[in-house]
Amino acid sequence: MKIGIAGAGVVGRLLAWQLARGGHEVDVFDPAPGPQAPATGQLTPAAPYAAGFTAAGMLSPLAELDAAGPEVARQGWRSLALWHDIAEQLAPHAPMPPVPLVCRRGSLLVAHGSDLGAAQRVLARLQAVPEIASPQPLARDALQALEPALAPQLRGWLLGGEGQVLPRETLMALCAASPGVRWHWSRRVERVEPGRLVLDDANARGFDLAIDARGLGARDALPLRGVRGEVVWLHAPGVPLARPVRLLHPRHRVYLVPRPGDLVVVGASEVESEDRSPVSLRSAVELMAAAHSVVPELAEARIVHMEANLRPALPDHNPHTHLEPGLLRINGLFRHGWLLAPALVQDALVALAALAAPTGLETAHA
Ligand SMILES: Cc1cc2nc3c(=O)[nH]c(=O)nc-3n(C[C@H](O)[C@H](O)[C@H](O)COP(=O)(O)OP(=O)(O)OC[C@H]3O[C@@H](n4cnc5c(N)ncnc54)[C@H](O)[C@@H]3O)c2cc1C
Repeated sequence: MKIGIAGAGVVGRLLAWQLARGGHEVDVFDPAPGPQAPATGQLTPAAPYAAGFTAAGMLSPLAELDAAGPEVARQGWRSLALWHDIAEQLAPHAPMPPVPLVCRRGSLLVAHGSDLGAAQRVLARLQAVPEIASPQPLARDALQALEPALAPQLRGWLLGGEGQVLPRETLMALCAASPGVRWHWSRRVERVEPGRLVLDDANARGFDLAIDARGLGARDALPLRGVRGEVVWLHAPGVPLARPVRLLHPRHRVYLVPRPGDLVVVGASEVESEDRSPVSLRSAVELMAAAHSVVPELAEARIVHMEANLRPALPDHNPHTHLEPGLLRINGLFRHGWLLAPALVQDALVALAALAAPTGLETAHA
């Protein structure tokens, strides 16, 4: 098939890579000037860019049960296995020096003793899908053995099997691994219709299948809104952290995610605002104070980057797939796009292959 994809975020790039490997002829259009993330340290980027670049990259189906339904957890759990395979295939295209694009060492939930009541309420919500796994309480010495940098008074629970992905490196690897795909940068798609993409110069391009993966850029087709998220990158040489850690706190959802190069990403605020301006002082203070309370040695870390972006959300906060002859839309991945993308893409490709039936297929994931 000739396939046109609008949007080169995580959904668009995963689809392009998989479809090109399946022998299809793929064109991707995106208003970004190129495949790479905007430069770090830039206060206000010239144009909006994929939320996927800003994401912390946690693959946390269990921890996300705090904010999502059981179906998200089930799909996320399935995605974890898919990410493992995808990362293996993308490995030759990872940046040098080589880093594992995906790793799965579990993640930790931690709480200060004074917040145990709030923590127990979150933990109760995390039992909603017992067939996957449950938080495993850790004795203090077991917690310290896993993560020696954590403040010694913290209580902790292990979410076995959870993982993380390196978002920027994986987005780049997906492009590098898809040389047959025609990437059209600096091209905005105004509308995505069955069998055609209407471009910013009012020209329409015809395809056998048009795919809408524009994230927040698809407001003409879906009732999307952007939910602001802010992250802070710290450079913390000598502070060992092997896996994502989330602080259970009555007011803030804060996590620390280790990255190669002694970096720790601290995130993320969740603000009902479509404001893409630089990180606010309040968010920066709250994120960093919480991070310091979890890993006191971060006091001497250096703040190397801050970034704000918008998560594409639908009113019910669930992902949405729409498939009809000539048209596929995947959107509304909200705060779990990295977690869910492989499962959603897999389901869509299976449904596409089976699209012999003339009627459209609507899937709203409950
Ligand atoms: C601070 C923050 C932290 C996050 N942390 C996590 C996390 O730890 N784990 C997780 O699973 N998820 C996380 N997310 C969520 C995740 O990043 C999103 O759910 C995911 O990026 C959505 O993917 P997408 O491809 O639908 O949209 P996007 O990644 O936003 O990509 C959309 C693409 O479409 C392009 N586009 C826009 N308009 C047009 C147009 N008119 N024509 C053509 N192209 C267009 C954009 O330029 C962009 O490249 C986080 C998000 C944020 C903001």
